[in-house]
Amino acid sequence: MARYIGPSCRLCRAEGTKLFLKGARCASPKCAFERRSTPPGMHGRGRQKPTEYGRQLREKQKLRRIYGVLEKQFRLYFARAARKKGITGDTLLALLETRLDNIVYRAGFAASRTMARQIVRHTHITVNGRTVNIPSYQVRASDVIGVVAREASRALVKGQLELTAGIATPEWLPVNKDELTATLARMPERADIQIPVNESLVVELYSK
Ligand code: SF4
Repeated sequence: MARYIGPSCRLCRAEGTKLFLKGARCASPKCAFERRSTPPGMHGRGRQKPTEYGRQLREKQKLRRIYGVLEKQFRLYFARAARKKGITGDTLLALLETRLDNIVYRAGFAASRTMARQIVRHTHITVNGRTVNIPSYQVRASDVIGVVAREASRALVKGQLELTAGIATPEWLPVNKDELTATLARMPERADIQIPVNESLVVELYSK
């Protein structure tokens, strides 16, 4: 299963905004974007004003990078969102937000989406009592996300919960920290998803 394995902080500098890809480090003074926010590369500082296409492209790249999705898979998400009723941009965000790795991250079971992806891949997570090791697994309303009944798995997730203790979990994803479960109470709406992306530009890009 392919994924981006290059430096994460470079992506934040390329997009000109913090994408929060590294867990606790992102909120600390060690954040690379806080220290140097210019785009990477020798021509980074002298970049021209972007064209309309350039702005659409940047929003799409930002969204892909936040959720760790490669181009081909992202296009499939868009096609699915476009087929569904409702506002395509909102549906696209809801689909990305309810990927299993993102749900694990939002529940505080992992300090970053990268860590969440690894936790899922290493079979520490269950959905409705069954082990699922597919990060892109689509979680549905009423599904219960849990941790497998292995001492190592529970210790791992408890350690992550300590790291994320100061971060509030979303209202649409109630978490039981004693039982290590999270329930997708309902599909998230646009107002619930706090990410620095203008998804309507992404829709414009793919609708050409
Ligand atoms: Fe981005 Fe800063 Fe986190 Fe690096 S530490 S991924 S630059 S927000």
